[in-house]
Amino acid sequence: MTVFPESRTVVLTGAASPRGIGRASAHYLAERGWNVGIIDLDAEAAKGVAEEIALEHGVQAAGAGADVSNEAQVRVAFDELEGALPQIVALVNLAGVSSPVPYLEVTPEEWNRVMNINLNGVHYATRRAVESMVKNGVGRVVSLASVSAQRGGGTYSKTPYSAAKAGIIGFSRSVARELGQNGITVNVISPGPIDTDIMGGTLTDERKTAMAADGVLPRIGTPRDIAAAIAYLISEDAGFVTGQTLNVDGGLYMH
Ligand code: NAD
Repeated sequence: MTVFPESRTVVLTGAASPRGIGRASAHYLAERGWNVGIIDLDAEAAKGVAEEIALEHGVQAAGAGADVSNEAQVRVAFDELEGALPQIVALVNLAGVSSPVPYLEVTPEEWNRVMNINLNGVHYATRRAVESMVKNGVGRVVSLASVSAQRGGGTYSKTPYSAAKAGIIGFSRSVARELGQNGITVNVISPGPIDTDIMGGTLTDERKTAMAADGVLPRIGTPRDIAAAIAYLISEDAGFVTGQTLNVDGGLYMH
């Protein structure tokens, strides 16, 4: 079993949005002793979340701004966090955008926007993170796909989104296969509908009930449901789990 260093850091992309999965996960992981690095499009918000985490949980935390669809920016942000925090053991790719555009109205710009952020962004951050993890001989990568990758898109997650998220699953299996011998595990979490603002604002109770009706559990998910799954997959104890897609979706997709 690969042993983690005494003091270790998790970097999360897309963890600055106030009601998002990323911020909730950053808090959840800090509560469990992880130092935290945050990369987000909104640099000020990333730094703000890092400050609140350091204050609340007594761990080290830092934030850096980057557009994950820009590889150079991702590398600069990662370098900055690596210089400021203890050894980066884990990367969690959460940065993402929804795409509610019907397929027949998808423009090349919309297709490329979603691919660049939701799929290329995962590659850029992973590539930079695993370069360090290979040197250190230990690493965990977890990326957020979506149940829409497996069963087709919903209202806010139409074709480009579903295609990009399905790409994350193939990407992760392939990197898992190549880097297992370096002590690195690579996994995916595929959430069902989660109560955040990604779908264009706070969901009404009526909408939440309608979304839950597709699954087998009587509710939609919370950011904490996903945070708990992330915590397991990046833990030392999950060292024999790699190349997997864990659905955290209330039973929406059973495979
Ligand atoms: P959110 O909108 O609350 O958060 C997304 C975060 O990504 C924000 O902090 C935003 O600033 C950041 N971001 C967006 N574009 C970026 C870019 N180009 N570069 C850097 N950062 C960028 O969304 P969320 O609901 O917390 O979603 C987190 C992840 O989970 C996403 O990948 C999403 O696709 C996935 N997911 C969410 C749901 C859901 O129902 N909420 C379901 C399945 C999958």
